[in-house]
Amino acid sequence: MMAAAKAAEGNHVTLLEKNPSLGKKLLLTGGGRCNFTNAEPDNHRLAAFYGHAGQYLLSPLSRFSSSDALQFFASRGMPYKVEDRNRAFPLSNEARSVLAVLERFMAETGVSVRTHSEVTGLILEKGRCLGVQTRRGPLLADHVILATGGTSLPATGSTGDGYRWLREAGHSVRLPEPSLVPLAVAEKWIQELAGLSFDEVRLEAWHNQRVFAETGRLLFTHVGLSGPLVLNAATRLAALHREAQAQHQELGLRLDFFPRWDGGEVDRQLVALIAENPNRQLKSLLSTWLPPRLVQRLLSPSQLSEVPGRHLTKEARQSLSRLLKGFPLTFQRLLDASKAVVSSGGVSLKEVDFRTMKSLKVEGLSLVGDLLDFDRPTGGFSLQICWTTAWSAGLALRGSPQGQKSS
Ligand SMILES: Cc1cc2nc3c(=O)[nH]c(=O)nc-3n(C[C@H](O)[C@H](O)[C@H](O)COP(=O)(O)OP(=O)(O)OC[C@H]3O[C@@H](n4cnc5c(N)ncnc54)[C@H](O)[C@@H]3O)c2cc1C
Repeated sequence: MMAAAKAAEGNHVTLLEKNPSLGKKLLLTGGGRCNFTNAEPDNHRLAAFYGHAGQYLLSPLSRFSSSDALQFFASRGMPYKVEDRNRAFPLSNEARSVLAVLERFMAETGVSVRTHSEVTGLILEKGRCLGVQTRRGPLLADHVILATGGTSLPATGSTGDGYRWLREAGHSVRLPEPSLVPLAVAEKWIQELAGLSFDEVRLEAWHNQRVFAETGRLLFTHVGLSGPLVLNAATRLAALHREAQAQHQELGLRLDFFPRWDGGEVDRQLVALIAENPNRQLKSLLSTWLPPRLVQRLLSPSQLSEVPGRHLTKEARQSLSRLLKGFPLTFQRLLDASKAVVSSGGVSLKEVDFRTMKSLKVEGLSLVGDLLDFDRPTGGFSLQICWTTAWSAGLALRGSPQGQKSS
């Protein structure tokens, strides 16, 4: 939508969408609130979030940065707010507001939108793209911008069609694997904790000499763990799990609910908590620190739930402190692509001219958004790639002598 509207400032543009309506995935983003960008004003710092691949973004970011995205949406009647970790959301808390701005932008620049229009392939001749095949017949164009997305949540329409066509056209496409994806644990009782979330938990996993340890926001689900901490760790945890499996071992996880205190400090705080209320049952004491459902689960194996604090032996208290610093779980598997937020993989970045987003393999073709092989963390970084690459792609065609008709 962004690419179409921008290109339409100097061209006749037709947008083809196979769904009955536009932005099906966009409406699901950010839990329906759409974390539409990360408000990091420094392009170099923003690019660093994408690892080595970030260098490719510097050129298009110079044309449309995260600050430009904020300004773009705000100036088109969508006030926004910035939450923790620089995550920007529409003030309305509605992804619909983001979609509305894009639809208005397309209406202003005169994009002709055709829904229910499935593209079945590119029309190629001698290394040049002449248009697209659709279920209703061919559509010829001077230029095609491909924005068919990746493979996460295929029910939204992102079924990886573009990857197939681009491979056939000579592009190298790294096969996508779910990247930002939640994980399942072996413990079935985890469902009792579904919905609990924590702003700061340290997650640890280790196998042989390799250790994973990071702190961040964590969410319990019906089958395991999610939240930014887990989503960003998914690929590394899966690699550790594969190594463990190769040696017929399990991958143990540990959750530290008090990452700012060392083990000794947790124990000292527990002593103080008990001293203040010696007659209160442990479950009630600990519920001043943690959600009661988690407390119940922490205490159930030791059956200490109803024991008054003053009756807790030193050994039992110290083992409880250790549990608060290292709640054990067993990694089972990553959930499949249907639960993934983005899929890693996509078209090799070396094969795209990032000044214009034009393919270096096929003339008359540009590539934008999730089609490109960027790994990115959660926090608005995916949609920023979309805005940045789409703006550059559209801008490069604006007023180009041959670019009078694009699709
Ligand atoms: C649950 C969820 C939450 C997310 N939340 C966030 C967030 O808060 N912030 C963030 O930055 N990112 C988020 N993302 C990632 C973000 O949604 C994507 O990066 C973004 O939507 C990619 O945009 P795109 O235009 O490249 O592809 P898509 O949004 O996948 O759009 C591709 C479009 O092309 C259409 N299409 C595909 N094939 C064809 C065909 N053959 N013919 C015609 N049309 C076709 C599809 O129907 C679809 O409408 C989230 C993703 C998911 C799944």
